[in-house]
Amino acid sequence: MKRSGPSFRQQQVELKTCPACHGRGVVSGLFHEMPCPDCESSGYVAKDADLALSVQDLILQLRLECNEKATEIERLRRQLLNTSPTENKHGPMGTYYRGD
Ligand SMILES: [Zn+2]
Repeated sequence: MKRSGPSFRQQQVELKTCPACHGRGVVSGLFHEMPCPDCESSGYVAKDADLALSVQDLILQLRLECNEKATEIERLRRQLLNTSPTENKHGPMGTYYRGD
């Protein structure tokens, strides 16, 4: 592993749903739910390690995940807009509604 510069890294770690809490971030205690200790209540653990990331790493990873999802949503939205029929100005069954 190459390590140069500050220890803070912007590396994306593959996440998976926390097996201990099944992504809920809480585990059922005897009487009530408690924050999941395995994943710092995030619902995610590192895919390879099965371990909770540090809170700082979690924030970074979840932000990267968020950015990725936002990009994905934007891409799908554009795709949807491109494929949706544009000649849908008429009402159902081709009737033309004049509104008076
Ligand atoms: Zn958990």
